Amino acid sequence: MYHATFSDEQQAVIKMVRELMLEQVSARTVEVEERGEFPHWLAELFKRYDLFGVAVPEEYGGIDGLVVTEVAVLEQMARVSGACSMILGVQCLGSAPIVLFGDDAQKERWLPRLATGEVMGAFALTEANAGSDVRAMTSRAVPGDGGWVLNGRKVFISHANIADVVVYFAKTKAAKGEEITAFLVETDCEGFEVDKIEHKMGLRGSPTCSLVVENVFVPAGNVLGSVGQGLGVALETLYKTRIASAAQALGVAQGALDIVATYVKEREQFGRPLARNPVVQAKLGRMITQVEAARTLIYTAAARYDDDQGDKARFSSMAKLFASDTAMTVTTDAVQLMGGYGYMVEYGAEQFMRDAKVFQIFEGANELHETGIAREFLRGGT
Ligand SMILES: Cc1cc2nc3c(=O)[nH]c(=O)nc-3n(C[C@H](O)[C@H](O)[C@H](O)COP(=O)(O)OP(=O)(O)OC[C@H]3O[C@@H](n4cnc5c(N)ncnc54)[C@H](O)[C@@H]3O)c2cc1C
Repeated sequence: MYHATFSDEQQAVIKMVRELMLEQVSARTVEVEERGEFPHWLAELFKRYDLFGVAVPEEYGGIDGLVVTEVAVLEQMARVSGACSMILGVQCLGSAPIVLFGDDAQKERWLPRLATGEVMGAFALTEANAGSDVRAMTSRAVPGDGGWVLNGRKVFISHANIADVVVYFAKTKAAKGEEITAFLVETDCEGFEVDKIEHKMGLRGSPTCSLVVENVFVPAGNVLGSVGQGLGVALETLYKTRIASAAQALGVAQGALDIVATYVKEREQFGRPLARNPVVQAKLGRMITQVEAARTLIYTAAARYDDDQGDKARFSSMAKLFASDTAMTVTTDAVQLMGGYGYMVEYGAEQFMRDAKVFQIFEGANELHETGIAREFLRGGT
């Protein structure tokens, strides 16, 4: 079992996060959802417990830089609240491109502060007409005096309204046609504006924003990776963060399972607890198995990523696909098993069901993962 491979230090972190979420966060998850704003108090709490360090390697002030630690922490956070887990999840998404592609100066400038949470990151790839088809983006960067001038608009960017630095993808001119380049854009620069915050089905404590860059000047030193390497920066980032996203979906499924397991033992109908009804047991048995299968696949994907096994594209896709579908099925079944009470905010299950949906959509819609997994396999994977 993957648990056996956790070091004492990792186990201590996981236990600490579980306790922190239960003792200081669980009572406030409905409030976070109803306010629909970034919960700054929670980011402060995560700072105090050094949890942003999960996003960054040890040499830059992080915990251990391992994906397996990152996913274990995110699972425990999402088990209590999907939105609350996004605080760390998006920090990982904003930090990963710098970890993977930053030069020494960029790493020294940003990573230590991303590790403490003093600086918050975001990742701006999606545009109104360039979602699954990222190559269709129309954001453009042209050479300026000692750097680049960016113009464009992004949609659905998590936490752009609270981020200090955004990894922004734009088209640049190439020898033949255009390529994509990644830029580090500081959000306090002139011309950067967040002009819309979406109202959403779930994850409401995690703001999803539209942003505009209008003649934003970016110094040459803020190109991440090399000019034209942007698609590689995006994909390599997503190979890592899809495993993290899968772990959040897993946490959401486990959170619903926790609630329903307690409920069916207490709720009596037809003279006995629902838990003793064989139909209820059969449904629960399937849910428990799906959750455990998702967990095994996720921790396998994380361990293979950390061991550099060379199959991260396929394993991250499989983990994300299976965990998000599991989260949707298990949370829906949890609401069903709780009847009318499952539908009520007070009981907590409906929140997990609303949160689950987006994991099938973001970090690549699941349909693209299905075909991508098949293509990788047919190319000669095992
Ligand atoms: C809450 C939230 C947070 C997000 N955060 C970020 C962020 O921080 N940064 C960022 O850059 N983006 C972010 N996104 C954007 C997200 O990654 C995109 O929504 C996602 O990639 C899908 O793009 P789209 O919404 O344009 O859907 P489309 O590309 O229009 O696809 C719509 C649907 O069509 C189907 N489909 C599309 N293409 C294919 C295909 N080739 N084969 C089969 N079926 C297909 C799928 O069912 C898909 O769901 C976020 C989105 C949400 C909802």
